[in-house]
Amino acid sequence: MNGTAARRILLVEDERTIADAVAARLRAEGFEVLLAYDGPAAVEAARRERPDAIVLDVMLPGFDGLEVCRRIQAERPVPVLMLTARDDETDLLVGLAVGADDYLTKPFSMRELTARVHALLRRVAKTTAPAAPETLRLGDLEINLAERRVHRAGREAHLTPTEFDLLVHLAGRPRTVLPRERLLADVWGWADASGTRTVDSHIKGLRRKLGADLIRTVHGVGYALEVTR
Ligand code: CA
Repeated sequence: MNGTAARRILLVEDERTIADAVAARLRAEGFEVLLAYDGPAAVEAARRERPDAIVLDVMLPGFDGLEVCRRIQAERPVPVLMLTARDDETDLLVGLAVGADDYLTKPFSMRELTARVHALLRRVAKTTAPAAPETLRLGDLEINLAERRVHRAGREAHLTPTEFDLLVHLAGRPRTVLPRERLLADVWGWADASGTRTVDSHIKGLRRKLGADLIRTVHGVGYALEVTR
């Protein structure tokens, strides 16, 4: 992510006393805080400043926080913590539908708010981190993610797109047994387990091209990538 740079939070809240108090607390936590006081200004600030996360009040002048969230998410996905005046189930459901990640009902404690913001950023760091390195190196296996090329012991293997995705998936958790159903769901996007033979045949392809010793079969369960050093 940003390394040591301060995480940038866009805080959208029209009640100035609340906005000032929340901003002060977030700054004390080490965040850089930008403020917007109405819907249109929030959308504009999100576009211009590209914050790492947004704390967004639902009740706003201009247009409300739900509309702000909808417009912002349509342009660039960004984690959103929504603030609402009451425990309104409709707001909650609509908020989640337009892309809010979490919810906090007023009145909230500052401790609760900062805990939620930290959790939100941790979750984002987790989901974006695997995409960060360009090359995965595991023993004599080298996977270039940007160019989608694979070498083992210096020799290039020509994989199909699905074989490549499957290999990257296994390489993301080396030595861990991944169930066939899970691979099917994650790599192919299939929810039901009727296609596990598809997984088997692609594993066969990977072994043929990269060596039989690379992937271990755990009978009745799934597969694990073995790393040789
Ligand atoms: Ca408000």
